[in-house]
Amino acid sequence: MSYLTYLNCTVNSCANNKGEKCCRPNIYVGGKSAVSFSHASCGSYTSSDRAGAATNSVFDGVYKKPNEALNISCDATECKYNALNMCNAEKISIRNGSNGAECGSFQMK
Ligand code: SF4
Ligand code: SF4
Repeated sequence: MSYLTYLNCTVNSCANNKGEKCCRPNIYVGGKSAVSFSHASCGSYTSSDRAGAATNSVFDGVYKKPNEALNISCDATECKYNALNMCNAEKISIRNGSNGAECGSFQMK
């Protein structure tokens, strides 16, 4: 099963971010044992330093167009929006947190 989730992301230090949207077609959120949003973090985060350093790489020039909605795979199975390791929320927010780019929409089952 695949879901499309509207995503707002305020992690401006990520190379995939443009105007608080994610340019990737999909993201992975990690946090197998997450019991709060601070433990569910975006594993697709890419430092913009790395983007600047990339000259002739595959990375350079891809993921430049912001997506309103995307597929999100997620390991935080304690979250009520987690359905067989996919996020089925209509909309989520990724934001800067104590452990990186955290999912601010995490809710315990
Ligand atoms: S932190 Fe994650 S959701 Fe946000 S722009 Fe980067 S890859 Fe996309
Ligand atoms: S809302 Fe829940 S299932 Fe969706 S990405 Fe965030 S932690 Fe994962």
